[in-house]
Amino acid sequence: MIIVMDHRVGDDKIEAVLVRLERLGFQIHLSRGVERTIIGAIGERGHLIGVDLEVMPGVEKVVPILQPYKLASRTFKEEGTVIRVGNLEIGGDTIHVMAGPCAVESREQLLCAAQMVKDAGATILRGGAFKPRTSPYSFHGLEEEGLELLAEAREATGLLIVTEVMDARTLPLVARYTDILQIGARNMQNFFLLREIAKVDKPVVLKRGPSATIEEWLMAAEYIMSGGNYNVILCERGIRSFESYTRNTLDLTSVPVVKYLSHLPVIVDPSHAIGKWRFVPPMAKAALAAGADGLIVEVHPNPVEALCDGPQSLMPEKFAAMMNDLRQVAAVMGRRMP
Ligand code: PEP
Ligand code: MN
Repeated sequence: MIIVMDHRVGDDKIEAVLVRLERLGFQIHLSRGVERTIIGAIGERGHLIGVDLEVMPGVEKVVPILQPYKLASRTFKEEGTVIRVGNLEIGGDTIHVMAGPCAVESREQLLCAAQMVKDAGATILRGGAFKPRTSPYSFHGLEEEGLELLAEAREATGLLIVTEVMDARTLPLVARYTDILQIGARNMQNFFLLREIAKVDKPVVLKRGPSATIEEWLMAAEYIMSGGNYNVILCERGIRSFESYTRNTLDLTSVPVVKYLSHLPVIVDPSHAIGKWRFVPPMAKAALAAGADGLIVEVHPNPVEALCDGPQSLMPEKFAAMMNDLRQVAAVMGRRMP
């Protein structure tokens, strides 16, 4: 539930409510705004039997949160969350595009991709150093060397970096290098990993699992938030369906739905959703039109030679053309692109 405090109320009244809630066994999340102070209280509703918090001085109203996710819910926080990373804001007026190769393959490949996506207007470089692959015989990434190359590309271009962390064992290593942690679709319900990431002070891109409902996805975000990391960016990347022409089915319905249910920023990954580069630009435009706060797109200097996901990777010039179109869609949506 959330407890809305009268905006004129003094600290002592707020403190009294906090003490009461803690005694009742609730976990507290305090949000002090200019207009009002909101206390989020998470715990067993049964503990409130016979308790009327609304009679306490300074309490304006008590609102139950009916959804199973609480901190991620729009009821808990009405205004959209803006996540600050480096000098960027994700979820604000500006649409940020994260772009780069599926996997970091070599210095030459990464630095070339980084420069090209930067020139086209991307602000964040993507690239996997630890790759979750369907086959154990596929390329699994350069690991720490890949992270070093990402850091070098950041140094060279000024782009921020986002890269996937696959397990708790390598989390401290990945967190040391990256600006934004990515949780892959296959790990969306790796609750142990979610709890570990909750303790890290870095924003997280949380991809939707290929078979996850919207509620399960928001519950995964709740794991991270309830552990203390509120900087979660949700990423729609397509779900399993009966259709086999495309790699997955891009569920753009989830964008307005999640933005209605949650205050968290939502980005879209058309590359993994569709699996074929040709269809990435139209769906990227559609994603912005649906209200997405950003995109994550695979771009490779030479997709034919890519060690991973070549068929869905855009050539740099196609990416640049797409970015020009996206600027127009962003403007229609009342957003801007850098
Ligand atoms: C990726 O972004 O490289 C990736 C593996 O994506 P997903 O987890 O959505 O499959
Ligand atoms: Mn990929």
